[in-house]
Amino acid sequence: MSDDYPFDLIAKRPNHYGFGGLDRSAHIREEEGWLETLLNLPETRLVPVWRGQSLVAVDDKQEEQPRAGLLNAGDHRELVSQASFVAFLGNRGGIGHVAVDLSPLEETAVANILAAHGAFTDLRRIGPLLERFEGSVLAYARGLMYWHQRHQFCGVCGHPTESRKGGHQRSCINTECQAPQFPRTDPAVIMLVHDGDRALLGRQKIWAPGMYSTLAGFVEPGETLEEAVAREVYEETNVRVRDVVYHSSQPWPFPASLMLGFYAAAKTTDINPNDMELEAAEWFTLDQLRNFEAIGRHMPRRDSISRRLIEDWMAGFD
Ligand SMILES: [Zn+2]
Repeated sequence: MSDDYPFDLIAKRPNHYGFGGLDRSAHIREEEGWLETLLNLPETRLVPVWRGQSLVAVDDKQEEQPRAGLLNAGDHRELVSQASFVAFLGNRGGIGHVAVDLSPLEETAVANILAAHGAFTDLRRIGPLLERFEGSVLAYARGLMYWHQRHQFCGVCGHPTESRKGGHQRSCINTECQAPQFPRTDPAVIMLVHDGDRALLGRQKIWAPGMYSTLAGFVEPGETLEEAVAREVYEETNVRVRDVVYHSSQPWPFPASLMLGFYAAAKTTDINPNDMELEAAEWFTLDQLRNFEAIGRHMPRRDSISRRLIEDWMAGFD
């Protein structure tokens, strides 16, 4: 796959955190010693993650525009040796990008070393402000480092695991076991349920006051995506749906989800929560959604697929 990422894979604007333009070059992960070689190239880009946070630089001239803090490997060899995990992300413009987890470093040490390059920040805080390529690369690095962090022991025999294949596999070090583990991503469905010109949105107690979003939930073993959509909507609101239609997907590594976006038509419309997961769920008309702030409500964050589902559904009426 070339660096020119095939945006024609989808016939619409890509979602945030996806389509990062990195050629993942999975074939070279198998080669012995290539990651070390890559890390010795001065131009290789390091993508640091520290305790789940991403390195972000704020441009002095445009304070509103944070930038991903990508480092040249040649200037930071000591960081690689102190990293707990290292994983190849992919190439862009012929330059390799490698995630490095600096979590073992104390806060003051990491702040001192990287002061000139930015500060570690929760990607969820600044994600909507980042340029899309940079947001995608930081999300990818964060997700992969989280997986390494959480899979240091074998789920079969309990022995430690070690990183393989450029950080895209961990294998049990017990020679009698050697069970491999692969980076996982948890599928979650997220859906806008509609009834004519009304959309069903809900809110959780922990969200900012007034924020409403589309319903969502994790897919369970043995379940199709369509069944998961119908089950989650029913559990959360008692509404029955039909005609589940796929919209698009979005990596959501907070910590390890893949959001799968759908539309579904309501078969019943009475709301009565079954599992108390939501604090409130309501039908909003197109008119109300167009004046959402005026009725004391607000939309989900700009980088979310939820926002995208709502906006695209509204645009269908224009
Ligand atoms: Zn094992």
